[in-house]
Amino acid sequence: MILEALRKRDCAVELHQDSDLVLPLDAERWPGGNVVLMRSMSLTRSRYLAAILEVKGARVVNSARAIATCGDKILTNLALAAHGVPMPWSFAGFEEEACVAEIERRGYPVVTKPAVGSWGRMVARIDGRSAAEGLMQMRFETGSASDHVALVQQYIDKPGYDLRVYVMGRAVGGIRRRSEHWVTNTARGAVPERYEVPESHAKLAERAAAAVGVDIAAVDLLETRGGELLVNEINHCVEFARSIEITRVPLPELIADYAIGVHP
Ligand code: ADP
Ligand code: ZN
Ligand code: MG
Repeated sequence: MILEALRKRDCAVELHQDSDLVLPLDAERWPGGNVVLMRSMSLTRSRYLAAILEVKGARVVNSARAIATCGDKILTNLALAAHGVPMPWSFAGFEEEACVAEIERRGYPVVTKPAVGSWGRMVARIDGRSAAEGLMQMRFETGSASDHVALVQQYIDKPGYDLRVYVMGRAVGGIRRRSEHWVTNTARGAVPERYEVPESHAKLAERAAAAVGVDIAAVDLLETRGGELLVNEINHCVEFARSIEITRVPLPELIADYAIGVHP
């Protein structure tokens, strides 16, 4: 759909599959100031590809740095905090006992999730000490060395939905994701709804995007029962298969317009 939108705009487009690419790691710059729209769903691939293509002189949307920050929820939270963007309180820890003690000190419920993950996978709520012990033990005694970090956050009691604001330089629209379950990913069965983004939500999403340095992103906001707004995460690869018809935010067209407007 993005390709079609670009071609409709008389744009010369080349499509490359990440699976076919082998890129030389040298400093030779390639001719022509190309814009690369990174659509690889793989964090590993997109992060390395963006870094390599930037050295070769391309303007990559999103940048390698933005991908690395958004792809890791600990680094995202850190960037948000550094820029004073409101978010659930969060901490990172490296050992089971220290993490359980800190959770006990802060009080329940809390949320833990993989620092690197998506589609709501392994996002877990901890309601008491035995769950805290079990989940922290699993975090540190399974997986590989790179998994051995815990991200723990304040649990936000949402009003049955979360909010997603699409930012492309500026906020261009959004969706509300409603669910009976507290995990409101559409990949987990939440239903996307139309949502007219109020000015205050748009401003917050734009601040969050600026904090992590993304061009194009889906910024997820959590609303508390009291109406306070917090930034949950920033998705650097905007997906739209499940939401586009219902929400009528023309994402492929907006992405094409943004890419054309970028200059290397
Ligand atoms: P993913 O990258 O897998 O989508 P998220 O951090 O966005 O990970 O978590 C998935 C969903 O879980 C969110 O959309 C939200 O509905 C819920 N969620 C995540 N963190 C919290 C939290 N701290 N408080 C309440 N709900 C949360
Ligand atoms: Zn995500
Ligand atoms: Mg999410």
